Amino acid sequence: MDPGCRHLDQIRDVTPSAAGCEDCLAIGAAWVHLRMCLSCGHAGCCDDSPNRHATRHFEAKLHPLIRSLEPDEDWGWCYVDQVGVGL
Ligand SMILES: [Zn+2]
Ligand SMILES: [Zn+2]
Ligand SMILES: [Zn+2]
Repeated sequence: MDPGCRHLDQIRDVTPSAAGCEDCLAIGAAWVHLRMCLSCGHAGCCDDSPNRHATRHFEAKLHPLIRSLEPDEDWGWCYVDQVGVGL
């Protein structure tokens, strides 16, 4: 049986830290899709974006869970377990 994600207790009641990728906004870069850290609300860009700030946020802070901030998407993802999580 798939054990799934072991980090759901790290999800906090957060709101996005910015209206776009906060790190791209800071450097004037463009992004493709927006993701949000479920532990701290960091808004970062997806791996299709040039700067991959969501993944870099995980690598820097070790916050394992993100969700999509795209209006038509409601999935989450755990970087550590490499599984999707229901929200
Ligand atoms: Zn996990
Ligand atoms: Zn970015
Ligand atoms: Zn975070």
